[in-house]
Amino acid sequence: MTDIVQLLVDEFTGFFGIRHWMEMFRSGDYQSLLTWKGLQSALSPLIPILLLIELVRGGLYRTFKVENYKMPFLIYIVNRFISRYLSIGAVAYCIGLFEGHGLLKADLTWYWFIYGYIVWELAHFVYHYLGHKVRLFWCLHSTHHAPEDMNLSVTYAHFFLEAPYADIIRTTICLLLGVTPPLLFLIMFIDGTWGAFIHVGENLLKDGRLGFLNKILLTPSHHRVHHAKNPLYMDTNFCNLLPIWDKAFGTLQQEEKELKIEYGISRQIRRGHFGDAYFGEFYALFIDIKRAPGLVNKFLYIIMPPGWSHTGDHKTAKVVRHTYLQQATGEPAAPVS
Ligand SMILES: [Zn+2]
Ligand SMILES: [Zn+2]
Repeated sequence: MTDIVQLLVDEFTGFFGIRHWMEMFRSGDYQSLLTWKGLQSALSPLIPILLLIELVRGGLYRTFKVENYKMPFLIYIVNRFISRYLSIGAVAYCIGLFEGHGLLKADLTWYWFIYGYIVWELAHFVYHYLGHKVRLFWCLHSTHHAPEDMNLSVTYAHFFLEAPYADIIRTTICLLLGVTPPLLFLIMFIDGTWGAFIHVGENLLKDGRLGFLNKILLTPSHHRVHHAKNPLYMDTNFCNLLPIWDKAFGTLQQEEKELKIEYGISRQIRRGHFGDAYFGEFYALFIDIKRAPGLVNKFLYIIMPPGWSHTGDHKTAKVVRHTYLQQATGEPAAPVS
């Protein structure tokens, strides 16, 4: 029994990231705050505490709905359970493989930091773009898009294999382009914190544009658009902090005030259902592969974008968005290649 209590206490302190603070209170030694590692640990309760405030405000404004938090919560619990038995150190593995093989050597200086961040955003764009455009990778990423509401708990909703897949792509690209591990870890910390914050719900931040910052940064508003299933918003805003690559590749989409965001994925999913959010896309892919005639078609289902069909009747994000835009401008919808 005490084991279970201890486990729950550990999980609680682990989730809120308060272990470091507890140790500092106990010892009265706050020196570690002056070190980068200590500062990083001290900042880790930030997002969980914001999530708590978001929940409380939701309760106060009577907009709190259990089902909006239930699915991400279940996913978090299952992932914690899996990670007790299985930890995949993809970052460490890639560092072992590629460290020292970079084109150049970007160290911890301000100018290399800028370079490193641009490279990191590119690497993130590549991973995230593939997560939306290759059906197999979409199976890994779709769990994050399944919640039909936006709030800070969504930041914890990921398929357990998505992190290693993302880390392999991002770390490899960064290392090969010369970003050294210390710089990489600094960027990953900033990216992780911001990447969590952009999931802030309307209970905490009604207008996610952050004023003029909306012009230079990828804001919660942009990421709300990314999580939307409205045809105009599908497969846009893949960046995390700096929308440079979305601008470069034409995937940047601003939030339109008159268009109400509908969160989730286009497939009808059982609201708040863990199994459907976690395995639903794998199952849908399995059915498509099973039904597809011939080996080539079966294989194409794995690598083509979600919505691709061997019959030629594609319902990919590109087709849906294109049709929507043509209808919006009053032109007859022509098929896209
Ligand atoms: Zn996404
Ligand atoms: Zn997200």
